[in-house]
Amino acid sequence: MARPSLFLDVDGTLLELVGHPDAVTVPAALPQVLQRLDDKLHGALVLVSGRNIAAIDQMLSPYRGTAVGVHGLECRHRGGQIEHHPLALMPAVLRQEIVRIVREYPGAFVEDKGSAIAVHERGDIAAADALADALAALCARRGPGWHCLPGHRVVEIKPSEVNKGTGLESVMRNPQFAGTLPLVVGDDVTDLDMFAAGTRFGGMTVAVGDRITRNGNLHLRSPVNVLRFLKRWSESNRAESMADVEALVREAATA
Ligand SMILES: [Mg+2]
Repeated sequence: MARPSLFLDVDGTLLELVGHPDAVTVPAALPQVLQRLDDKLHGALVLVSGRNIAAIDQMLSPYRGTAVGVHGLECRHRGGQIEHHPLALMPAVLRQEIVRIVREYPGAFVEDKGSAIAVHERGDIAAADALADALAALCARRGPGWHCLPGHRVVEIKPSEVNKGTGLESVMRNPQFAGTLPLVVGDDVTDLDMFAAGTRFGGMTVAVGDRITRNGNLHLRSPVNVLRFLKRWSESNRAESMADVEALVREAATA
């Protein structure tokens, strides 16, 4: 029986989305639930986020499992050091131009993750669209190596060859993931590369919330349901098959 591995997006999947990424609240039980589940899965639990790994560690302390950060630009195996993707160097001139554009939009702010930049927009929709267009035009001018990845009220500017899907693929090459079936959980369009990669490995996908509902094999309404599912899974003493895990997701969806 193939063991499941678990790939979890963080914001909007484990944590409720809020106006500013620094203002999220972490459910008190979450770090312990992740630790129990990671032990149960023999280290085959991976957090996959647009945030950098240092920020994830800080939020979920003392939990420090395997993580993919900045949409695949950072990777850290359980107990190891953070590794940076060779493409993870943003030219200073591109960074300056992004900052200059963002200054023209009062509701926008920059989240600088070192190897990538996220631009958040909290103004009206028209301003958000205009800002996204300006950033896309900038990336197009800068050549094929950089692209804009639009998410929910955020645009990520990052190397085009790296995404959460390539992050999942690189983790799957690790021995403790060999032969596992990935269960991939995410809430946003930036998770779709990871959904596609997980499906190529024969896994299943869970869409959280209402943004990518149709893209998942399964659906959970909110991070509350996700935590309920993870808690139930972490508490069971069985070695679940993918079918058992699917049943646990369906249970958490209706509870
Ligand atoms: Mg998310």
